[in-house]
Amino acid sequence: MIRYTLRCSHDHHFEEWFSNSGEYDSRKDAGELKCPECGDTAISKAIMAPNVAKAAAAPAPACMPGGSGGGCGGCAFAGQH
Ligand SMILES: [Zn+2]
Repeated sequence: MIRYTLRCSHDHHFEEWFSNSGEYDSRKDAGELKCPECGDTAISKAIMAPNVAKAAAAPAPACMPGGSGGGCGGCAFAGQH
């Protein structure tokens, strides 16, 4: 089972379970996916990777010079700067 966080065109977020990634496409194409708040069927997958999203919005916050934790040793950007 795969859980996707979905988002309607009015920016409502909700979660749905699918048996595989193809089921998302087939249910979407069939118009079976709709927002539980407003009934919108213009559904898209929300980006479901909070850590990555945070890193993209504020690159490497843990790598501030002089920060705790010894600099860049433990962060995903270690070695890149
Ligand atoms: Zn909605």
